[in-house]
Amino acid sequence: MQTYAPLDVTFEHGEGAYLWDSNGEKYLDALGGIAVCGLGHAHPAVTQTICEQASKLLHTSNLYHIDRQQKLADQLCELSGLSRVFFSNSGAEANEAAIKIARLYGSKNKVKDPAIIVMDNSFHGRTMATLSATGNRKVQAGFEPLVQGFIRAPFNDVDAIKNIADNNSNVVAILVEPVQGEGGIQIPDRDYLNQLREICDQNNWLLMLDEIQTGMGRTGQWFAFQHNDILPDVMTLAKALGNGVPIGACLVSESAADIFQPGNHGSTFGGNPLCCATASAVIDTIADNSLVDSAVQMGQYLLNAFTGKLASLDGVREVRGLGLMIGIELEEDCGDLVAQALDKKLLINVTAGNVIRLLPPLIISQQQADTIIETVCELVTNRLQQPAAA
Ligand SMILES: *Cc1c(COP(=O)(O)O)cnc(C)c1O
Repeated sequence: MQTYAPLDVTFEHGEGAYLWDSNGEKYLDALGGIAVCGLGHAHPAVTQTICEQASKLLHTSNLYHIDRQQKLADQLCELSGLSRVFFSNSGAEANEAAIKIARLYGSKNKVKDPAIIVMDNSFHGRTMATLSATGNRKVQAGFEPLVQGFIRAPFNDVDAIKNIADNNSNVVAILVEPVQGEGGIQIPDRDYLNQLREICDQNNWLLMLDEIQTGMGRTGQWFAFQHNDILPDVMTLAKALGNGVPIGACLVSESAADIFQPGNHGSTFGGNPLCCATASAVIDTIADNSLVDSAVQMGQYLLNAFTGKLASLDGVREVRGLGLMIGIELEEDCGDLVAQALDKKLLINVTAGNVIRLLPPLIISQQQADTIIETVCELVTNRLQQPAAA
C-alpha cells in the first residue's frame, strides 16, 4: 500500500557504510536504515550468525525454552542493569508491552483509569496505542478514537511534570525518549532524566524509557540513560538491536519484574532463535570492537566539524548531537535536501521538517565522516544561498 513515498533508487547490496544501487552506483550511508544498521551492511559476524542459526533452527515458539533467547536476555540485563526481558518483533510492539506493563501496574495498585505521561513531539510507533502515545498530530489524524490514558507534557520541562503530579492521582508512569529522534534530535538538559527519576520515585510511577533509537551504543553509551546515574523501571529497544533482523525488546528492572505473569502478554515470533542469535552477535561485535567508544569519538568529530562550519551561519538555528545522533536545524523546512544528497551519493534524512538528521553506522571511519561533513556542508551552504529554490 502507499504508506511511503520512496525515493527513486533501489539498493542491491551493501558493505560497511556503503550501499550500491541497481545501476552499480555507490552511496555512503549516513542514516543506517534509520538507526538500524549500527554495524553497517553485510557485517561478516552478523551474516555468519544468521547463516549458522538458519541452518540449525529458526523457530520453535515460546511454548518451549529457547537458549538463544535466554543468552540474549542475560547479555541485555548485564549491559543495562535491568532484570527481565520480553522480546517482540518491532519497536512499536516493545512499547505496547511497556504500555501494558504500566496499565497492569496501575490495575494492581487499584488506580482507576491509569494514565501515562507522554511528551510533545515524541515518537513511539504506529500501532493504535503507540500512535496515541506519540506527540505528533500528523501520526494520529484520521485514526480517532485514540487509545485513552495518556497525559501530554512538553519535553524537557520538569515543572510541567510536577504540575501534572499535583493535579492528577491516576498517573502510573512516564514514557519518554532520552533524546527525541523523529522529533528532531532534541537533547534534554543533562539532569532531566535524574529529575524524572526523582519525581517517579516520589509518586510511585514507573520511569519508562523508549531507547528504540538511542540504544545499542548510538549515543556513546550502550543505553542513553547511562549518561545519567539512574536506572529506569522499563526500557524499550528495537532498531539497532538486530542490525536489520526484526527484533524488539522491553526490559524491566527488579522493581517491575513481577508485573507480567504467564498469560498477560505474548508473541508468536518474539524471541525466536534466529533473531536472538543475531542480536547476540550484534552485541558481541559492538563490545569486541569498542564501537560505543567509536560512537563517542566519531560523534564528537562530526559535531565539532558541523558546529565550526555551520552553527554561525544565518539560516542555521542549531547544530546538536549526542554520540552518533546528530541534528542540524535550519530556520526553514529543508526536506528537499534528502534528494539533493542522494544525487551526491549520500544518504541522509530530514525530520520534523527542518532538521537534517544523521545516524551513521557506529563503524564509520574518519575518512567517511569527512565525506559526510563535506557533502552536508556544501548542501546546506548552497541551500541557504538560494532559499527561493526550495
Ligand atoms: C522507530 C521508533 C519506534 C518505532 O519502532 P518500529 O520498529 O518502527 O515499530 C518507536 N520509538 C522510537 C523512539 C523510534 O525511533
